[in-house]
Amino acid sequence: MEPQRKRRKGSACDTDSWVAYPVLSDEQSQDVELIEAFAAPIVDKKETSRLVRELNGLYPMITLQHIKRVRACKEEGSPHPLEVLVCLVSDAHGQEKMVSIDSLLPSDFRRDGLGEPFVVKVPARPPLTRPQFEIASKHWPLAFHEDKQVTVALKGELFSPLQKAKMHMYMTTALTAAKAGREGGMEAVGAVAVDPAMDRIIAVSHDCRGKHPLHHAVMVCIDLVARSQGGGCYSYDQYPACHFSSPSSNPFENTSEGEPAFQPYICTGYDLYVTREPCVMCAMALVHSRIGRVFYGTTSADGALGTKYKLHTQKDLNHRFEVYRGLLSKQCEDLNGLEDHFEKEHLKE
Ligand SMILES: [Zn+2]
Repeated sequence: MEPQRKRRKGSACDTDSWVAYPVLSDEQSQDVELIEAFAAPIVDKKETSRLVRELNGLYPMITLQHIKRVRACKEEGSPHPLEVLVCLVSDAHGQEKMVSIDSLLPSDFRRDGLGEPFVVKVPARPPLTRPQFEIASKHWPLAFHEDKQVTVALKGELFSPLQKAKMHMYMTTALTAAKAGREGGMEAVGAVAVDPAMDRIIAVSHDCRGKHPLHHAVMVCIDLVARSQGGGCYSYDQYPACHFSSPSSNPFENTSEGEPAFQPYICTGYDLYVTREPCVMCAMALVHSRIGRVFYGTTSADGALGTKYKLHTQKDLNHRFEVYRGLLSKQCEDLNGLEDHFEKEHLKE
């Protein structure tokens, strides 16, 4: 049985066992909020453009630019083909929900072609994702500027089989590092920094809290990336599973033109693979080091990239990045079992 299982490892179907989903901002993930408005039938179609123009002047509904003013009437055989939004219920000061068209319009407004109003619910915010659009448009027609990448990512189809195979390999490296850390008596968390442009691993790390309380796997990984560029603060020589690879061309050498070679700021453009969702400290370090994308396997209760916070989407921070979760989620979750097992063994001693 064992050799068979080994053959499966690394095969194409391995990558079918997990799906990478994007961790989107609250605005992109939240439910569709609805607000009440008065609509009225347009009983004479020829009056439509005048009515829309004049209602726009009277009730501009500036916060609802995503909403279409007129909709085709839903019911078949309806006596009127179109309905128009008159105003928000909150715009009709002090009006009950049962109102007449006369109470909503000033006396000099030409009511020709307009029927009696009724209350409808319209989406309060522009939709940011296709799922939000599909729910919102059931209530009232609206404009949607689709981000195609987000749509594909939400379906879990953003990455090609070849890309997934590479992602699988990098996360497997992080898993191996996590296990090495665990064997050294530390938490089973592993991280790998990758330059996706070169398809090259820059640094591999695991949790190193044995000697320093702040040496979470991600902090160690960022420090190792800095070391690969001639910086960095710490030595992890006693942890052989933590290592970095120097860039193939020495960035400190001058080019033939005498100009210093280009060097990115720490993690600019790099990907980070980490078995567990990073904490706030690690997530902030990723912001500061200008990481390109983060991929994690499993969520954590105090995670700052989706669970407790979404630091990567904070508009008031000066760097934002993409985050995907779910890579090798089963194997990454199994690391927690490794923790429990270790704790039990430890208690027995
Ligand atoms: Zn951390």
